[in-house]
Amino acid sequence: MRFGFDIDDTLINLREHAFHLYNQKLNKNVELAVFKALKTMEIHEPFGLSAEEGGAMWRSLAEEIYYTSCPAFDGAVETLQQLVKDGHEVFYITARNAEHCERTKDWLIQNQFPVQEGHFFCGMKDREKIRIIEDLQLDYYFDDKPAVLETLLDVPTKVYAIDNSYNQELKIPRLASWFELKEIISE
Ligand SMILES: [Mg+2]
Repeated sequence: MRFGFDIDDTLINLREHAFHLYNQKLNKNVELAVFKALKTMEIHEPFGLSAEEGGAMWRSLAEEIYYTSCPAFDGAVETLQQLVKDGHEVFYITARNAEHCERTKDWLIQNQFPVQEGHFFCGMKDREKIRIIEDLQLDYYFDDKPAVLETLLDVPTKVYAIDNSYNQELKIPRLASWFELKEIISE
């Protein structure tokens, strides 16, 4: 089968990684529980930053956020490796900006994600993901972002939301842990 994955906050715990960096850089001690309850994808609010300041903060830390020690979610690497071992195809579809595409692909490889030639798509807009998902005729696709997921309600691909506090409004199937994937595909 053909599996597609968003990267940030689908396979890797990027917002939380950025949240710890914000605490460090701003010399704050915002609790993780506050982060976990956020209803927005943006994380600036509990730090008392405006949307504009939050955007500037993210951009100024982008190097550290993207390319240091952001952890994968539990089971993500092993699950994708197993899929490839079992003869499935794994595709990555990330809307990170074009300037980050090459290094993001390298980062995935360095962090043991299986990246096959021609299976990495990057730099599109959220609303352009649907075209790639349809062209690839994916059997399954996983993403966390409401703005992406809401474009995918009518595609033949089985779409799952990675369960998070900011996407609860969406009434679509959810994945809370990568250890659940085996069960889903055996259904
Ligand atoms: Mg994402």
